[in-house]
Amino acid sequence: MESVCRIRDTIRRIVPGKGGDCTLLLGSEKTAVIDTGMAYCADRLIERLERELAGRPLNYILLTHSHYDHAGGVAALCGRFPQVQVLAAAHAKRVFQRAGAQREMRRMAQVAGRLFLGEEEFEKKARALTEYPQELLRVDRAVGDGGVISLGDLTVQVIETPGHTNCSLSFFLPQQRMIFPSETVGCYIGGRRIDVSVLTGFEAALRSVEACRQKRAEFVVSPHYGLVTSVSAEEYFDIARGEICAMHEYLRERFYRGESAEQMLAESIRDFWENRSGDDEQQPQEAFAINMRATIALVMAEGRVDG
Ligand SMILES: [Zn+2]
Repeated sequence: MESVCRIRDTIRRIVPGKGGDCTLLLGSEKTAVIDTGMAYCADRLIERLERELAGRPLNYILLTHSHYDHAGGVAALCGRFPQVQVLAAAHAKRVFQRAGAQREMRRMAQVAGRLFLGEEEFEKKARALTEYPQELLRVDRAVGDGGVISLGDLTVQVIETPGHTNCSLSFFLPQQRMIFPSETVGCYIGGRRIDVSVLTGFEAALRSVEACRQKRAEFVVSPHYGLVTSVSAEEYFDIARGEICAMHEYLRERFYRGESAEQMLAESIRDFWENRSGDDEQQPQEAFAINMRATIALVMAEGRVDG
């Protein structure tokens, strides 16, 4: 499961354990990671990063959003690289300032740690997962549309892509024509399939897909997957759009049939969670259920307005 994959010589995808990934960008002047994976394997991520950085400092952490499987490693990385600057959406900055969100990050770190490490390993790491100073989980600088982070010969453009969360950001590398679409645009799972998770707005999600498409990227690096090679970028965005609409339709149909949120959740778990391809568990079922509840609430609220 753990691996380092060279997408390009200076762009390396690091998977320190199940459920989270991180891409290291080695610019001629500065270095950055996109996302930090989950907290339970942040120690392994740091080991890999140190090897790949080969003595260079880590300058930036860019966050696609504030969820525990993307930002879980922030505290550990800020502890290890005290000079690093964390860049994320203004909304993510506000999220990390809330005691409730900080608690939830620690709680989900434990849930995932138990699942992926096993009880014995988990017990050894439990304290490190939860007992870190709150200021280590932070955003130093808010970035948004039009934001550019220069790493020397590598440049990162920021695209706001809300829909999965309000703080979702996608990143585009113009020289490489490579895009890192946020989870709003979904997670590629092979073939012509993308898992979508829209928690804050379907219309916003569709606009976000188009905002990414407009960059005319040639290469797509999908969250939890890596470089997509079996479909083109254009097809990727078509598939994402189709999946977002299909999920919307799936829930809307059930809402109009009069199903309760609990019924819709049970069916979604059966249709999407239990039917997911392979046995590759990338997140605890609880995380899936939390997300699905938000999607269902969104469709129900919309349905009530439509009357
Ligand atoms: Zn997420």
